[in-house]
Amino acid sequence: MSDSSGSRTTDGSKICVVLGHERVSTLLARHRQLVAEGVGLVEWRLDHLSGPVDVAGMLAQRPGPVIVTWRRPDDGGKRATNEELRVAKLHAAIEAEAEYVDLEPDVAEKLTLRSSSRRIVSIHDFTGTPDDLQWLHARLSGAGADVVKIATLARSASDSLRMLRMVRESRLPTVGLCMGEFGLPSRLLAGRFGAPWSYAADTTGQPLAPGQLDWRTMRDVYGYEEVSPNAELYGVIGDPIGHSKSPLIHNAAFRALGLDKFYVPFRVLPDELLGFLDDARALGVRGLSVTIPHKEGILARVTEAEDAVRAIGAANTLVFDGSKVCAWNTDCRAALDSLTAAIPGSSLTGKRALVLGAGGAAKAIVCGLRQAGAQVTIAARTLARAEELASALDAQAVAWEARHDVRPDVLVNCTPLGMSPHVDATPFDAPALSSSMVVFDTVYNPQWTRLLVDARAAGATVVTGIEMFVRQAARQFELFTGRPAPVEVMRSALVGAARRSGS
Ligand code: NAP
Repeated sequence: MSDSSGSRTTDGSKICVVLGHERVSTLLARHRQLVAEGVGLVEWRLDHLSGPVDVAGMLAQRPGPVIVTWRRPDDGGKRATNEELRVAKLHAAIEAEAEYVDLEPDVAEKLTLRSSSRRIVSIHDFTGTPDDLQWLHARLSGAGADVVKIATLARSASDSLRMLRMVRESRLPTVGLCMGEFGLPSRLLAGRFGAPWSYAADTTGQPLAPGQLDWRTMRDVYGYEEVSPNAELYGVIGDPIGHSKSPLIHNAAFRALGLDKFYVPFRVLPDELLGFLDDARALGVRGLSVTIPHKEGILARVTEAEDAVRAIGAANTLVFDGSKVCAWNTDCRAALDSLTAAIPGSSLTGKRALVLGAGGAAKAIVCGLRQAGAQVTIAARTLARAEELASALDAQAVAWEARHDVRPDVLVNCTPLGMSPHVDATPFDAPALSSSMVVFDTVYNPQWTRLLVDARAAGATVVTGIEMFVRQAARQFELFTGRPAPVEVMRSALVGAARRSGS
């Protein structure tokens, strides 16, 4: 069997699904299913097999291209085994012409046998990402590699960016990836930066390395195999970031319009924020969505900002345009558009609004409500924050305990109360809701929060956080692309994901 899946010039970047099973029959059966589902490359982790292993016999039955790997426990292998036996099995895999055989540098130097098998010379570091990745790469290349693989633990987003830069600069096909949550961009962007493949977990069972996504998410949600080497890069920064639905809806929108653009989540720590922005821009990132806790911190790098950003003191969108760093706050407009669409006569002028919470979302929404002529009262758990916001934006503040006495026309929840998994929580008691109210919950996971269910039962007009989320993302899409956003595509991607997660 022959295959050219290692070439970075003749073939697109593949997803390599990593399989570790105890029984050979299960491994081969799963491999056959994956081939039927269109998976082009599979890694067999022989260190997961129990009992005797007949590598040549297994390879004779392989349904598609394979990487044969038998890891030592120190490199993340499952079972300890006699080293001589392990090397003999790798030797057998080369002899039987597996498409790829994964070797540690010391073994690669000793195993001189050559066949049509290509040698992946790999190194794993579960403690961090070394400073000198180029030196490491040279060492592995020098051990007779056809493909270099470097897998390290990322301790920051910048580790991922350094790894991607190393992959891009390598002359030999190189799979460089960072493990852990900080490493996700290196897995998703591997192909964009020239790696012949990226590793993914199977959809069943546990990932075999920290931070591995399952292959369906990589293929179907991110569209990994469609990303071209010229794809323009976008992303979302936050800490934490794992919950963000922004990659889902932006990638769905890019793909629906056939745009060669790709959007990834970056977990960025507050103390690396400014360095990250500089590195990301240097690496070719064109624009970023920004979420907690960076909406204010990014302003230190902004050169141009719309009025709403200056009024609110926070931005959720950055676009890198040559030497300019431009900032917008699309939350504010999105919230106001969501509300006015639900209000009879579409005017907020003179309406009494009660905003619950005094954080970033509240700031953007109070600012928009004031500009629209509403009278705003803010109730927050920390009264001092409510008072500070009220005095900055010419609003009133009341104690959290007094919120039910306000009797507003418009109620807006800007606290996380009711958000999954605490779906039974609500920031406002049901008896205080009435049919004359418009109730807007910014929480979008779940779509139907307890507050909104109670409000609907009271006959109130309701506005969901999904409305706001889709609108803020749609405006970002327009800023990123200069085109109208496919709003319905974005909405159904978000609603579909909420349905799949059971909310
Ligand atoms: P934030 O800056 O952390 O502010 C959260 C606010 O909620 C603070 O006032 C906080 O009070 C208060 N709070 C937190 N836990 C509370 C509790 N158990 N009881 C009472 N008050 C509580 O967060 P944010 O950026 O404003 O986001 C708030 C919510 O808005 C999030 O849950 C998010 O789902 C939603 N949001 C939605 C969209 C959308 O597009 N739909 C966009 C942005 C945000 P303290 O100051 O006392 O901690």
